[in-house]
Formats: sequence, structure tokens, C-alpha cells
Amino acid sequence: MARSFPGLLHESRHYTHPMTTTQVPPTPRRPAAAAPRETAGRAGGPQPPPDEQPLRYCKGVGPSRAAALAHLGLRTVEDACYFAPRRYEDRTRLLAIKDLAPGVVATVRGRVAAAGLRRARRGQAIFEAAVDDGTGVLSCLWFHMPYLARQIRKDDDLILYGTIGEAARPQMIHPEFERLDADEDPALHLGRIVPVYPLTASVGQRWLRRLVAGVVEQAAGRLDDVLPARIRAARGWPSVDEAVRTLHFPPSWDALERARESLAFAELFLLQALLAQRRVRTQARVKPQRYQLDGPVTRRLRASLPFALTASQSQVLDELLADLAQAAPMSRLLQGDVGCGKTIVLVSLLAVAVQSGYQAALMAPTELLAEQHRRTIAHYLEPLGVSAALLAQGVPAAERRRLAARIADGTIQVVVGTHALIQRGVAFKRLALVLIDEQHKFGVVQRARLARKAQEPDVLVVTATPIPRTLALSLYGDLAISTISEMPPGRQPVTTRWLRETQREELYGLIRREAARGRQAYIVYPRVKDDEREAVRGATAMAKRLQAVFPEFAVGLLHGQMPGEEKDRIMQAFVRREFHLLVSTVIVEVGLDVSNATLMVVEHPERFGLAQLHQLRGRIGRGPDPAQCLVVSDAQEDAVRRRLEAFVGTTDGFAIAEQDLELRGPGELLGRQQSGWLRFRIASLARDRGVLDEARTEAFALLQANPALSGQDVAGLRRRLLGARRPSARARDGVPSGVEGRRHTA
Ligand code: ADP
Ligand code: MG
Repeated sequence: MARSFPGLLHESRHYTHPMTTTQVPPTPRRPAAAAPRETAGRAGGPQPPPDEQPLRYCKGVGPSRAAALAHLGLRTVEDACYFAPRRYEDRTRLLAIKDLAPGVVATVRGRVAAAGLRRARRGQAIFEAAVDDGTGVLSCLWFHMPYLARQIRKDDDLILYGTIGEAARPQMIHPEFERLDADEDPALHLGRIVPVYPLTASVGQRWLRRLVAGVVEQAAGRLDDVLPARIRAARGWPSVDEAVRTLHFPPSWDALERARESLAFAELFLLQALLAQRRVRTQARVKPQRYQLDGPVTRRLRASLPFALTASQSQVLDELLADLAQAAPMSRLLQGDVGCGKTIVLVSLLAVAVQSGYQAALMAPTELLAEQHRRTIAHYLEPLGVSAALLAQGVPAAERRRLAARIADGTIQVVVGTHALIQRGVAFKRLALVLIDEQHKFGVVQRARLARKAQEPDVLVVTATPIPRTLALSLYGDLAISTISEMPPGRQPVTTRWLRETQREELYGLIRREAARGRQAYIVYPRVKDDEREAVRGATAMAKRLQAVFPEFAVGLLHGQMPGEEKDRIMQAFVRREFHLLVSTVIVEVGLDVSNATLMVVEHPERFGLAQLHQLRGRIGRGPDPAQCLVVSDAQEDAVRRRLEAFVGTTDGFAIAEQDLELRGPGELLGRQQSGWLRFRIASLARDRGVLDEARTEAFALLQANPALSGQDVAGLRRRLLGARRPSARARDGVPSGVEGRRHTA
């Protein structure tokens, strides 16, 4: 009976190993040294290490197959060694056809008694093969695949994998199949637990299996082991060679589980070691700036606050101030759910920097957010004599030059802008503190670039949305983490409801009631314009239509394609309550703070990710009145229903983030740029939580005790982390070349 291995099933992927991907298929520097068609046993000269040994020169590959393999992310011998099967088939116990019952997932072997193509009524091609194993006959059907007539012929010896259909006689629809050829090594494909790989055009299952089997043997003894022998021994794990062999050709399910765990651990360990190394290096640095933590600006700010900080805000602020006071530059992540009050904590830090005579910069992911931050900062700090300015694309060139001059001479104390502007030619007189408000937009490398704007700036990264712990530890694992864990008092919990189209009248009634009471509502659409093909309504047309539905109310329209000033004008008008309803795209997703808004209506919610929906919901419930979030959808698909049910079921942003990771995986959760960082070949951040924690603990302990990575036990790790063999390829930011390369291959 075939069994899919749970761990490897749900993510069939083309993973690349975190530290080793190179941007282009590596060309051997000395082609002769690649020892093309020789196996390890017969190799005369030294072979390049597996991560530099192109598959192209392996037996039976050649240029066109090499190109096909590259589609699977397989370029080097090492890539092939770590290429995780998509599932496994236990071919030690094949089922007899006479024993097959409907609904059973089975692997059977038999001879093709008859095969042929027929046309169904509407011209549909049906290929049918009757397979006989001596105990019975299994009928196999494939639709729309006439070319199978060339692949499956009478008397072929087939292995079939599929679900037995609900027919009177044994039947499989669209089974996966392998044809066993007489010249094939049967021990590779039969009588064992067999790997089944993701495939691509012109790469067949058995061919790939044979290639991997050869390559794994060839690489034995030459694969880098990033795990110290001590760690392997303590956990009773096999050697890296054995783990890799077991990943492909497991002697048992238990052995597979252990091998997989050790490989996932090694993969996460390598990433955590990189992050630990960065952390250790940062902590060893000494910054020039000295802060005055308590002074006139902070005192007056505290006195001017209309509320007391929550216990959680105070505690986090203390952590941040302790960072400022220490000799090493701050290198920290601040997270907290939407609406928990991160902004005032940031403003307090800015006040400290300014009263200490330094400049501070705050980066936001969009101009809209940057402008909003500037306004908030101005609101709190300008009355205290602090000068804050916005440096954005929308600012005219002459004005920008003037601003740049005043930043350079230190007159402007707080500069707010987007990422690009901070990067481009802006010089500070004495920048000491950098706050990065982001939506997973900047990674390790970008942060490292920013840090060059000042000698040793204190850097605080703020996430706009909660992110799952495993993701935080992988993306921001080189930072200390502070979490604001409670909401300000007096918040009304937001009620969330999922409405169907049939309840639209009820929805409009609700909007009418709220607007009549002077409350405001957001109505969010996924698109600016209607999309006929996809039957998606757009904000522009709907703003008009809703104005007709609600003639007694003012309806505003806000979307991302508007010029900057117009967006700003509309937002300001909404803040001043000139509109009852704001029809918009997801542009309102982050940061907007209008406490009078009590309704958030999301149309086509199936188009949004969970975290995005949560962000949208975070726009309301910011004032003293009860608020409601309404998603309107008739969606039936399982995935969408699970997502919407999860959304309705909890308002805990961290719980939502975990669900999002499980439902969509890190690639969808993060931007393209960031997911490249987390393309694991074996590990999964949704599943390997415990493994990640252990790997992180071990990696940090190791790098703290032995930052230079000296000793034989860590030779493999040292080579990977310090790129010892490829010194020229070391990245400028102290990141091994492969790490940055991955970002571009993503
Ligand atoms: P976020 O963490 O999402 O950035 P904000 O900083 O925008 O949240 O804060 C949300 C709202 O809560 C703002 O209107 C802010 O003024 C208010 N707020 C922040 N801290 C407190 C507090 N301790 N007590 C009451 N209201 C607060
Ligand atoms: Mg905010």
C-alpha cells in the first residue's frame, strides 16, 4: 500500500539550499577538473566540491537535460542530493488487484493486457489500459491525453499509483504510472520505498531516480556537513551522507523521519548560524553616540500625552531605552498587533535622540505612510520645538534640495521618508537613530546598507503586522525582539461577520445606520477598475454606484493610482469627516488612523490574504465605539472558506499570522524578495517549529562561544558561513555570496 510521507507531501517545491544557490549555473572554472563522466570510485583527479559540480557533466545529462533540471532548481550535484521527493511509494508491499476496494490509494504492478484510445461523445480522447497482475484486471483511464498511446503499449510492465474509483470493477482514473523496462535496474524502482520527485518536461521519474541514485553515491564523503559531530552524536542522527541517501531511498519510514529531521535541522542551523554571527558581530561593536534618556523633550512629551502608556508599551520602551544606553548599537525588532500603539513608542525614541543632539530617520514602505508618520510626529514633537520633515518623491526638486541642505547641516532633526529616498544621496550631519517601519519589505541585506548612512546607528525595525514566530526568527533572527502584547484600554472589540450576497440589503442598512449616527465606513475593493473577465468589481465604478445608493451621504474615493497630493487630500478630508464612506483599494491597509470609522466592509475578500484582511480590520475599532468588520463573499472553494473562517474566528493577529503561514506558506506571505531568503529545500517553517528553536539555540550558543569558528568540528559550517573557498565571491555586507544570490533567483 502506497503511503505518502506526511512531512514531504504538502510542499512540492523547487527549493534551493539557503546558503548555496548561485545566481547563474556555475561554469566550471577549469572544465577538465570537473571530471565529467567519472564516478567517485574511479575518479582520477580531485573533483570539485558537490556544490560547484555541475550536473551537466554527470553521466547521461548533457546540455538539454541540464536545462530541464535547472527548471527544477537542480544545477549542481549538491542540489540533486538535497532534492526532496514530493512523496514516496512503499513498493515492498504491492497490492493484489483482486483485493482493491473503492477509495483505497494503492500502488499495483501488472502487465498491460490491452490498451487503446477512444473518443467520447464530445470528441474527448480517452486512453484506456487494462492492467493484469495475475489476480485480476485493473482498468486505467486517462482523459485528454492521447499521447499516452505512444507511451503505454500492450505487454508493458507498469507500476501504477492512484485511488481506486467507485466502479463495480477495479478502476483508476489518471493514475501516475511508471513503465519498467527490461534493461532497467529493478532494485532501484521496486521492492523498496521509492521516491517520487516533482518533474518537469523531458525529465522522467525513473530517469531522475537513477540520476539521483548515482549522484548521491558520487557525492558521498564530499558533502559539507554544517552540523558539528557533537550535535549529530547527541541526537543520534546519521551522518550527512547517510541522511541524504535515506532522504531518497529510505530503508524504513522511521529512518526517513530521522533523516529528514536532521537535514531540516542542518538547514535551519546554517541560517541561524549566519544570523547569530551577525548578532555577535553587532554586539561587539561600539557606537559613538551617547544619549540623554531623560530630558526636556521627553518630559514635555510625557506630559502632553492624552493617555498613559500601557504596561506593555512601558516595558517595551524600557527595553529600547536600555538598547540606546548600551555601548553596542541597537539592533532590534519591535512587533505588536495592529492598533497596539507602536507609534507613540517610536515618537518617544525620536524625542530621546533629538534631546541628545542627534538626528533620527524614520523609513516607511510607502509615501502615504511616510506622510502619515510625519503628521503624527509633527503633532507630538513640533510643539516641543522639534523640526521634522518629509522627504518624498512628491516633493518638488528645488524644495528637496533645500531639505537636503537642512538635513546635511543638522537643522532638520527628524527625517521621514521612503526607503529609496533614504538610500539615495542624502547625507546627515549626525544621524544616530534609524527606525524602519515596514511590512516585511526590507531584509538583512537592505538593513545592512542603510546602516552605512551613519557610523554605527541604532536601528529599530518595526513590523506593521504580526508575523509568525518562525518567520520572525528567520527573517529577523539577528535582531533582539520586543513585543507589545496588549491593546490600549477602552478598545471595543471588533465584531467580524461573513455575509453572503443575499445579505447585501442588510449590509446597506447597517452602513446607513452608522453613517446616520455620524460614524464613518471604509468599503474596500481589490481593484481600482472593474474586471469583467474575473467578475471583480473595482473601487472607481463602485464609488459612483454607492453614491447613488446613498444619496444622503458623501462618498469619497481613494486608490493607489491617484497622484500623491490627491490621495493626501482625500485622506485629510476623511479624517475631517467630510466623507461618510470611503471607497478604496487596499491602500488603506496600513497605518490609517481614523477613530471615528466604525465599519470596514471588504468586497471580494477571497482576493486578500489573511494578514491583509487583519490589517484592514485594524483600521477600525480605534475609538470608543463598537466596530464591525464585514466581508462579503459567496466563495465556495475550500481554501477560501478556511481563510475566511479563520479570519472571522479570531482577532488575535499572531494567531492569524500562524494560520496564514500554514495556509499559504512563506512564499506567499512575504514579498518575492523576502521569500527567496526562506526557500528551504527540506525544512518548512510551518511544520518545523520545534526544530527551528533547537537549531537556533545551538547555533547561537556555538557562535557566542566560538565566533571565529575555529576547530575541526565546525569546518563544514565555517566553509559555508565564511565562504572560505570562494573568498572573492563574499558579499559586501558580510553575507555569504549564496545568500544574496538567492534573492535574485527567487
Ligand atoms: P499601531 O501599533 O498599529 O501603529 P498606533 O500607534 O497607530 O497603533 O495606535 C493606535 C491608536 O491607539 C492611536 O489612535 C493611538 O493614539 C492610540 N493609543 C496608543 N497608545 C495608547 C494608550 N496607551 N492608551 C490609549 N490610546 C493609545
Ligand atoms: Mg502604525
